Amino acid sequence: MKVFKFGGASVKDARSVRNVAKVLGLQRQESILVVVSAMGKTTNALEQVVGSLLEGTEIHSKIKEIERYHLEIAKELFEPSHALFSELELLFKMLYDFTLDEDKGGYDFYYDQIVSFGELLSSRILSAHLKQADFQNEWLDARLYIRTDSTYREGEVNWELTKSRIESLDTSQNYVTQGFIGGDAQQLSVTLGREGSDYSAAIFAYGLKAESMTIWKDVPGVMTGDPRKFENVTLLSHIAYEEAIEMAYYGASIIHPKTLQPLKKKGIALYVKSFVNPLAPGTLVSSSPKAQTLESYILKEDQILLTVCTRDFSFIAEHHLSEIFGLLSAYQIRISLMQTTAICLELCLEDKYLTIEKLISALEAKFDIEIQKGVRLLTVRNSTLESTERFYANKTVLLEQMSRGTLQMVFQGEL
Ligand code: ASP
Ligand code: MG
Repeated sequence: MKVFKFGGASVKDARSVRNVAKVLGLQRQESILVVVSAMGKTTNALEQVVGSLLEGTEIHSKIKEIERYHLEIAKELFEPSHALFSELELLFKMLYDFTLDEDKGGYDFYYDQIVSFGELLSSRILSAHLKQADFQNEWLDARLYIRTDSTYREGEVNWELTKSRIESLDTSQNYVTQGFIGGDAQQLSVTLGREGSDYSAAIFAYGLKAESMTIWKDVPGVMTGDPRKFENVTLLSHIAYEEAIEMAYYGASIIHPKTLQPLKKKGIALYVKSFVNPLAPGTLVSSSPKAQTLESYILKEDQILLTVCTRDFSFIAEHHLSEIFGLLSAYQIRISLMQTTAICLELCLEDKYLTIEKLISALEAKFDIEIQKGVRLLTVRNSTLESTERFYANKTVLLEQMSRGTLQMVFQGEL
């Protein structure tokens, strides 16, 4: 059994959906579980619906727009009498009904119940189209298989339950299911974090002990840098799980960071391939001594550089660090780089949940704070240390670090 993941860009219009059928048609006779993300930018559009709902502003036209987009794709793919249209109608009715209901919970709860419709819609359309294109498959509700706790927007997988649910699947059959979503004990939708469909695919691959998992992208595979940002990048044909984990950790957005662990545990090979050029080899991620370690570049935008200094000129000591880290954890702020000097702690941070102002007020009670927003973090993996000067050109470097072949710099300016 193989697991294939198709992201939002690979199903953004009718032509792309047909292309998925083409990619599947090229495979050997082997059963495949297909995990699909919401179409195009649907997740962002649904996030807007959640925002408006909680602000009490108009949502009807926003949902109508999402409906129109999906129906347009469906009309290009199916005869008007196709049963899919009533399935879509039912899904949109459920979405409308949900938004009319009495207040039931906070933002994160609403977010998951609403945003999960993106994947429910895309998977219905894809499943029906694939059947039509002679790729027989069963549509699965991922929420019944990926079982999580009720941490809305960042669901924690219950591995035991999830594994036993997925093991009940018939591995001689093809399936189409949703990425990004799971279900909790109350049968409610729980999302796994933005861009979480890769992770969903890895969870299914793990439970199925799949032969391999493939992420189909609009790029040739994992490159030594994002070709939109870096010049002279090349394709990595084979990298180790550890290298991919490191790259994802430093911000290479090509693979969701949580994806690698379950695959590595079961030794499942991961391929990253192009859906535009499906016969090209792409990148293999596995454990093998043959794996490459080439110099690669990762840029993280929109970072915050925070300098926290003791007020009384005392050294930054363990109890200070423990207090600062406690606050970072409480406000869910992620550290991308840190360094200490005698009396200061330098932190490069990511403010994913927009809680930085709260953190600063808490810290200001005890420390002197300096903050620089909108800085960038460049990470060079496997730096050969040859001609590193070129990384410093056109930049004001605010903080830098070199450890075990990884060069990192927080900077302002051009790449
Ligand atoms: N549709 C979700 C998102 O855009 C999940 C994913 O694409 O992986 O974040
Ligand atoms: Mg997406």
